[in-house]
This record gives sequence, C-alpha cells and structure tokens, in this order.
Amino acid sequence: MVGIVIVSHSKGLAEGVRELVVQMVQGKVSLAVAAGVDDPQNPLGTDAIQVYEAIASVYSEDGVLVLMDLGSALMSAEMALEFFPPEQQTKVHLCAAPLVEGAIAAAVAAASGSDMQRVLAEAQAALVPKATQLGAAINHPSSIITEEQLTHDIGAPEDASPTAEQITREIHLSVHNRLGLHARPAAKFVACATRFQSLIQVCNLTKSSGFVRADSINQVTMLGARQGHEIVITATGTDADEALAALQALVESHFGEDDISSESHPISPSPPLPPSSLKGIPASPGVAIAPSFQFKKTTVVWHHAAPIHVHEYHVENPETEWQRLQSALRIARQEIQALLTHSSIQIGDAEASIFDAHLLFLEDPILLETVQERIFALHLNAEAAWSAVIEEVASNYHQLEDPYLQERVADVVDVGQRILRILSGTPITTVDLSQPAILVACDLTPSDTASLDPTKVLGICITAGSATAHSAILARSLGIPAVVGLPSEILQVADGTLLSVDGETGNVWIEPEADTLAALEVKRHTQQTARQKALATAHQPCLTRDRHQMSVLANIGSIEDTQQALSMGAEGVGLLRTEFLYLHRTSAPSEEEQLTVYQAIAQLLGTHPLIIRTLDVGGDKPLPYLKMQPETNPFLGWRGIRFCLDRPQILQTQLRAILRASAGHQVKIMFPMIATVAEIQAAKAMLAEVQAELRQAGIPFDEKMEVGIMVEVPSAVAVAEQLAQEVDFFSLGTNDLSQYVMAADRTNPQVALLADALHPAVLRMIQQTVQAAHTAGIWVGLCGEVAADPLAAPILLGLGLDEVSLSPPAIGAFKEAIAQLTMAQAQAIATTALQQDSATKVREVVLNSHTISLFE
Ligand code: PEP
Ligand code: MG
Repeated sequence: MVGIVIVSHSKGLAEGVRELVVQMVQGKVSLAVAAGVDDPQNPLGTDAIQVYEAIASVYSEDGVLVLMDLGSALMSAEMALEFFPPEQQTKVHLCAAPLVEGAIAAAVAAASGSDMQRVLAEAQAALVPKATQLGAAINHPSSIITEEQLTHDIGAPEDASPTAEQITREIHLSVHNRLGLHARPAAKFVACATRFQSLIQVCNLTKSSGFVRADSINQVTMLGARQGHEIVITATGTDADEALAALQALVESHFGEDDISSESHPISPSPPLPPSSLKGIPASPGVAIAPSFQFKKTTVVWHHAAPIHVHEYHVENPETEWQRLQSALRIARQEIQALLTHSSIQIGDAEASIFDAHLLFLEDPILLETVQERIFALHLNAEAAWSAVIEEVASNYHQLEDPYLQERVADVVDVGQRILRILSGTPITTVDLSQPAILVACDLTPSDTASLDPTKVLGICITAGSATAHSAILARSLGIPAVVGLPSEILQVADGTLLSVDGETGNVWIEPEADTLAALEVKRHTQQTARQKALATAHQPCLTRDRHQMSVLANIGSIEDTQQALSMGAEGVGLLRTEFLYLHRTSAPSEEEQLTVYQAIAQLLGTHPLIIRTLDVGGDKPLPYLKMQPETNPFLGWRGIRFCLDRPQILQTQLRAILRASAGHQVKIMFPMIATVAEIQAAKAMLAEVQAELRQAGIPFDEKMEVGIMVEVPSAVAVAEQLAQEVDFFSLGTNDLSQYVMAADRTNPQVALLADALHPAVLRMIQQTVQAAHTAGIWVGLCGEVAADPLAAPILLGLGLDEVSLSPPAIGAFKEAIAQLTMAQAQAIATTALQQDSATKVREVVLNSHTISLFE
C-alpha cells in the first residue's frame, strides 16, 4: 500500500489531519506524521530527521506520498529525501497538493489499493470538488498561485473592488532591542513572516527607506533598523491579520533577546590579563611553540581559509548550472543545519541562531532570483553567477554606515564561500588556518579534531575534556601536542599571542620568557631524538629480554591512519574505530562505502590482522543525523551496542560490509560496550542472519572470522567467564572501564585524575578479565589509551595480556619498554602494583623497580 506522510509545523494540525483521514478510511491506511519540533517554548517547526523517520516508517516498494504545509516543511521534506539511497528516493513523492484535502484524497485512493500514480493524481486534484462547489475556477488540478500572480493581484486593486484578501493591512512599530534588526532578529523576523501566505513587506520609516520583502533576509537586514527606529509592516492576503499580530508580538518581545539596554550603556571593563602560565591535563605529548588562534564554534573560520578562486565561463545549458547550484544549496543547508544542531547543544540556542540567519540567506528569494537571472541571461557557470551576486550583497553591506551591519559581511562571505566550496567539490574543513598556530577552544568535537591539519595546527589548548576523551585520542594519533582541562583564562588570550605547550606535563606558557623557550626547544629536540630512536627499532617484534612475545597493534580510524600505523611498527590493527567513518556526513555510510574503506585497510595490512569494531556512537560521539536526543548522562545512556541493537538496519548494513571485507583478509569483528550476555547473543544472532543471507546470495566471506567483544563495562568483567563462552577474544577498553569503575566521566576535567587506568581498582579488573579469558582458552588484548603510557608497559605484560593496541606514535616507546624487561620482572611489578592503594603509588612502583632505564 502507498504510504502517506503528513509534514506540518504544527503537531496539533497534523494530528487533526490524521484524525480526519483515519475516520475517512476506517484506519486502513499506512500514515505517519512528522510535525512540530521538540522545543516546549517554540513547538512550531519542522525537522528533516523527523520527516526521514516518518517516511522510513511507512516506506514500501509501493512508494510514499509526502504532503507538507508550507515554508520550511518543504525544505525539511527535501532534505529528508536526501537521507535515502537513490533507488528509494525515486519511490518517495513530495506532493504540492493542499494538506487537508490532499491527505484525505490520497488516503482514500491508497486504502483502496491504488498505485502511486493514481494516489498522486487524486491528491493533486483534491481541490477540484471544493472549487466546483464554490463556483471557483481551477485551471489545473495542481495549479499553484505563484508569488508574481499574488503580487500582481495585490498591485491591481483599481480593476475591481478589493476582496477581504486584497486589502493591505499595516502596523507601525518601534524597535527596542539594543542592536535593532541585526542578523539574529532579522532571521526571526523573516522566519515569522514566511509562516504566512500573505505578501508581507516592511520599511524603516525613520530612515525613509522603501518597502522591502519580509521574506528576504538581506533586504530586511539592510533596512538598518536600529534601536529606537520606527518600522512599518504591511500584509496583504487571507492571513494578514494573523501575520501582523505574530510579527508585532515578535518585535515587542524584542525578538527574544534579553538585552534591550541602550547603546550608551557603559562599556564593561576588559577582562583581567591572563597569567603568564597555566596548568591543564596532559593529553597528547610533545612541545609546540606558535601564535594562538581562538576557535569559536559560532565563527566557522572560512575567512581564514584561502578564498576559492572562481573561473567564469560560458555554458551551453544554463538549466544544468541552475540544477548544480540547487544541489549545492541543498548540501549547504544540511551542513548548516548540522552546525546549528551541534552549536545549540554546545553553546546555546541564542548564539547558535546565527546559523538560522545563514539558512535564511540560502533561501533569500531575491538573491536566488538574481543568480538565476544571471545564469540564464548570460549563460554563466553557477560559480561565477553566485560569486558575482554575493560580492554585490557584501559590498551593499559594506556601504552601510552602520558598523554592526558592516560586520555582517563576514556572514555573507561565509555562506558564499560555503556554496563555492561545495560547487568545487572541496571537502569541509572545520578549522582551516592560513598560518601554523596553536588552537585554543572551549572544546573540540571528535569531528573537529579529526579534520585538523597537523601542519597548520601545531598544538591544542582546550578548557574541556580529559586524556581519554575522543578528541584527545585523535590529537595523539595525529601527533599534535595537546593540553586539556585548562583554566578559562586561556580563552582570553588574543589571537596571535605567542604560546608554548608541553603536552607531556600539561603546562602552557603565554608569551614565554626567552629562557623558557630555550628549555622547551631543548625538550622538543630530545623528544624528537627519542622518538626517532624508538622508531628505528619499532619494526622489530615486541620481545622481552627472555624472548617472551607480545603482539603490538594500532588503534586507527581511517585508511590514512593505516599507512601511519604500519610505518610506526604496528603489527596490525587492534581497533578500527568505525564511527569516524560516520562523522562529517549527513547520513550513515552505505554498505558499499564501508566495504571500500574496510577492504582498502585490509589490503594495506596484507597478512596482518584487522579488528573492526562495530559502530560505537553516543557518549562524546553523537551524530546529528542519527537523531540521538541529548541525554543527561550520555556515557550511561544509549551508546555502542545498545544503540545498534535498537537500530538493526544500521548494524546489519555494517555487518554485511565487514563480512564481505573478510573474504581473503585477516578481519575480526568486535562489539563495543557489551554489558550482558544477552547483548552479545543478540549481536551474534544478527551476525548469523547476515551470514545466512550472504551465503544464500553466494557472496563470499570468512566463515571462520573471529568474533570478540570490548570489555569496558564493569558488569562484563564480573561475568567475564560467561561472556568468554560466547566469543573468540576479549579486548579491554580501559578508557571506558576506568570511567565506569571510578564513576568519573572521561570528558570532565574536574574528575580526570580519578579516571586513571593505572588505579589498582582498574588493574584488578584487568587481572580478573585476563584470568577469565585464559581459563576459557581465549586470547585477551587491551586497546585503551593506557597502553600508550610506557610506565604501563611492565604492568600490562605482567598481568598476562596477549596483545595491546595503541595510538601509532606510541608503538616504538612501548616496544622499547618491553625490551628492557624479563617476564618475571614484569610479573613482579604487576603483583606489587595490584597491592597499592593509588595510581600515584603504582607509578612509583614502576619507577622504583630500576628495571627500565627508560624511566630512570
Ligand atoms: C576504550 O573505551 O578503552 C576504547 C578503546 O574505546 P573508546 O575509547 O573508543 O571508547
Ligand atoms: Mg570504549
């Protein structure tokens, strides 16, 4: 049966339509609703993910018909469509029919078993009976009254006496908020105006400006309406009164901004100067000396990137260029939407709403009409037409007297460059510096960190986080020195100030003295020499003095990491964090995309093993498009295997890709966050189903592929003997295990010292897991960050681990540490460490053992 989806700004409206439909066809219809947004203050709106889920819930081969109310509902529906694979997209039809009449007509047709073509035709003709009854003419069932027609009707009142809808209503209002109709209020104004069907215009009476269209963000902003200015709003159409009432309420509520004090308000004193050095948590070793650069989420730093150079050329087919621009606009909307969602979680709705203005900018009808005109009239390529219009808009802003509005040029340029980047096929870079710098920020997400260029970002200073937060893990694998959990004074340091960072001690110097700089240069040199020495022997097997061997593998997140891992002495990959393939995207990677990556990594590894961990999102790795609601305790919430078992489609796709990659390669699979026997049994059952499907389809895979789990939840340690019956190997995830054993959030600098994997409480858990694994006859590894600490090496060996997997740059030092020990010495150190009562004392035990010259 054809499915039907109702998309509306209002939940009440959508539910009302559903009620009517269900009554009409006595429930015999497959119908879903995507309406309203999850914000009790502002429940009206539409959400692409919700639309996607609604379509997916009624999707079948017969197709889905989507009916929308207006404005952003269309945009959300178009965006939702992008989340489906191309073959499914063709089965989903966005229908221009009126919501109520269209839904009923479509439902009646669908319930009687009609095909999509018929259902669509019924919906599009839905207004005909009503129009006929009222004696109104409808030329074409799906006719849409264009804006030009509406404008024309309004502009021709002398032809006939005006109907109620043709009368123009008008209100005069004063603007009271401090910065007037600047970007954010203007965005709210435009968003409010576009909710109505009436033609709405606005002028700044104080500046005697002409009237401009209220649906154009640029025109509204350029009115230059400031605090104390009088504006006039006119509305013409059936809902003119409601529109003016809504706009009046918005203006009178000062656009929801708290600060309405006058500009003559005394300027607040500048913040105190930062002290000359700060102490944080060491997160990634190494010394960096460079000017600082403050990374703020609200300003994605395109203006620091080299501007994209545009070539102008003649095109034969302007329609193709226009379509290219349309698809670039769609991608840009998705990117900005993701940025908006992310920023409102990270920095609050008020700050994030600047991205609302960016979204409206992309929808500005006047801007788009001008670009379209250029493409068609001059046969120009999309880039040239777009950038010429953007330059005009930017220069219009520049010419305004108002310094605040002049600053809006940055937003115009940002949006303009975003489209040019997409048109040129350049991938997104969150931080793009023109000069090498030390990045200073409140926080960096794993996706921010993953996109950093180590040749430009020489060091990282952040106030959030801990050494096992994923951004710190990524910094280590990129080899970028990092200090996290710094005091907030670091955020007051002006851009360009010389900083030095010691990622080993957690010290940061602001404008360091000459002798500090000299000492740090010496340290940097010593570290580099030690790294090179370790690297020289890193390709040897990891052997103790009495020739006991341990496997040393690498933790990676991409194909590029594989090359680096091999060059640094990795004997395979002990942990492929597949979630990094899911970042920087607007939808989950397809089976084929994943297969390509897994096969490429396996190919590079040759006969070395590759352990692919299934998707481990949640915690500090949320993915906006997976619609994971913010949780009070994300690390105790819906993450890892819990999420995947609830979203079987995502896991099944990944399992197919992993299994297919296993053919002819040394691939093993590992499930994260297993807390119970039931979870691993459910995961294995799903794996068996997928294996059966592949077998039936004759698709090859490794029938003997090993299956393992991460042991990172205390309950898994407690029932390790039972879990060992289910799998071929364990890998201890001490990053999570430490945070759960010590009840200390791994991203919270306040408790970072507690979540220490060398605490005897965690070491005892490791010991217990190793014993359970070996009793059951399976092997056990460890892939937590603790393995990158050379002080941990003797303990991990002494506790009996068969394998470790660590950040590639740390492999050489680990092998070097092991080479200085005998097995008996390592066991003695581990036994003594287990008897201590703190991580500090455990470290002293290793340092005092005098077995390892490296630590002396
Ligand atoms: C761990 O928890 O130790 C681990 C290796 O996994 P992740 O850091 O990705 O959570
Ligand atoms: Mg983990």
